[in-house]
Amino acid sequence: MTRIRVRFAPSPTGYLHVGGLRTALYNFLFARKNGGSLILRIEDTDRARYVEGAIENLIETLHWVGLDYDEGPGKGGEGEPYVQSERLALYREHAERLVNEGKAYYAFDTSEELQEIRKARGKYDRRSLKLTPAEVQKKLADGVPAVIRMRVPDNAVLVVSDLNRGSVEFASDGVDDQVLLKSDGYPTYHLANVVDDHLMGVTHVIRGEEWLSSTPKHLLLYEFFGWDLPIFAHLPLLLNPDRSKLSKRQGDVAVEDYRARGFLPEALVNFVALLGWNPGDERELFSLEELIQEFSLERVGKSGAVFDIEKLRWMNTQHLRRKTDDELLTLAHPHIEAAALGSFGDQYFLSVLHLMKDRIEAAEDILTLSPYFFRDPDTFDERSRKKHWTADSPARLTDVKAGLADLDEFTHTSIEEVVRSVAQKHEVGAGKIIHPLRLAVSGMGAGPGIFEMMEVIGKDICLQRIDQALVVLGV
Ligand code: GLU
Repeated sequence: MTRIRVRFAPSPTGYLHVGGLRTALYNFLFARKNGGSLILRIEDTDRARYVEGAIENLIETLHWVGLDYDEGPGKGGEGEPYVQSERLALYREHAERLVNEGKAYYAFDTSEELQEIRKARGKYDRRSLKLTPAEVQKKLADGVPAVIRMRVPDNAVLVVSDLNRGSVEFASDGVDDQVLLKSDGYPTYHLANVVDDHLMGVTHVIRGEEWLSSTPKHLLLYEFFGWDLPIFAHLPLLLNPDRSKLSKRQGDVAVEDYRARGFLPEALVNFVALLGWNPGDERELFSLEELIQEFSLERVGKSGAVFDIEKLRWMNTQHLRRKTDDELLTLAHPHIEAAALGSFGDQYFLSVLHLMKDRIEAAEDILTLSPYFFRDPDTFDERSRKKHWTADSPARLTDVKAGLADLDEFTHTSIEEVVRSVAQKHEVGAGKIIHPLRLAVSGMGAGPGIFEMMEVIGKDICLQRIDQALVVLGV
C-alpha cells in the first residue's frame, strides 16, 4: 500500500485562520494516525497578497499549537522545495507542455477587455483561441502581456468523488477557461496546487469545502497531464452562530488573536477538532494524543460546523483545570512581567493561582479578576456595599480587626476563628461579617474563599485595608 502523504497548503496571509488550523489539524491527525507524512507547502503565488514575515508567523503558530509537520520550510532539506514562489520555472514548464499539447492556450486580453467580456457573457469567450499560431508567436515575440488558459472541454460532466460527500457532479459548461499562468509569470492556485500535489506524491487532499468548486478544474488538469488522482476529502464549512460563513465581522478568526487572549493551545486544538469531526459518542475533551488515536476521516460530517466561542471558553477552562499550578505560573509569566508585578515573587503567584484556578478562564485572569492580590482596592463594589454594609458593620469589623491584630499565625483557620467568635459576640451569623469583610479587603462582592484569600494577602495589608474601608465606607 502506498504510504500516506498529506499536505497543509496555506497562502501566507499574515495570520492563521481558525479554518486553516482545522485543515492543518485534520491533515496532521490523519497522517499521524496512519503513519504517513505531513507536508507544509506555502502557496504564495498571489503576489498582491504577499505579507512580510507571514511564513515565519505561520510556522511559529503551528509550533505553538503543537502541529508538527514532517517536510516543509523550517525543516531544512535541499533548497526548501515547499515554497511555491521558488518553483516558478516548474509551473511554466507544465503550462507550456499543455499549450504544446493543445490543452491550454495563450490569451492576450487586457483587463478592460476581460471586464467587458465578463459583463456580457459571464466567462471568457475564447477570443484568443481564434488567433493563428503565427499571430500568437508574433505577440509573444513583441512582448504583449500573455496568460495561459486551460481549455475546458464543452458539454462534459466532471465528477468529483469525495470521501465525505460521495460523487459531486459539475457541468464543464459552467467552468471557465481558467488562467493557469498569469502575465507576471506566476502560476494561479489551480496549476501550482495540482502540479505540486502530484510531484510531492500527495495521496489525500484534505481541505475546506470552499475549494470543492475548484476541484473540477483540478480533475481536468490531472486528466490533461495523465496523472493519477489523489483522494479528495472536503471539510464542512465553518459557520458563525447565525449560520453565515465564519467571518472576521463576528469575532476573531486568527489563531494568533486567541493566543493573545490567553487561550490554551490544547483548548483550541480540542475545540477545532470537533468542528466537523466527532468521536461517535458524547466525549468532548481530548488531548492531541487522544485525538490522534480517535481520528478518522469517516467520522467527518457534511453539514457546516458552528464556531461557538462559548464552547471554546468552556473547553479552555476544562483544559486549564487539568494544569498543575506550576504550569499555570509559566503561562501567567509573560503577563506578570508585562504588568510589572514581578516583585511579588513566584511563590506568591503560585498561592494566588491555586486559589483562583477554578475561577479563571486564562492564566492572566488572575490579574484582572483578582487585582486585590496585587494592590489595594480603589473602589468598592456598589451592589455589595448596598446589600451588606450596614450601620452595624463598622463595629463588627473593628472587633474583627482587633482579633486579627492579636494573631501570631495568620492562617485561614485562625482568621476563620476570629470571624466566628466576633459573629458570636454580636449574635449574628458569620455571613453578616464575611460579606462586609470581603468588601473591605478586596473591594469586591465575590471571590475565592475569604479566609484563604486573606491568608495569601497577609496580615499587615488586611489590617490596613480594613482601616481604609472603615474610613471610606463610613463608620
Ligand atoms: N492555498 C490554498 C489555501 O489557502 C490551499 C487550498 C488547498 O488545500 O488546495 O487554503
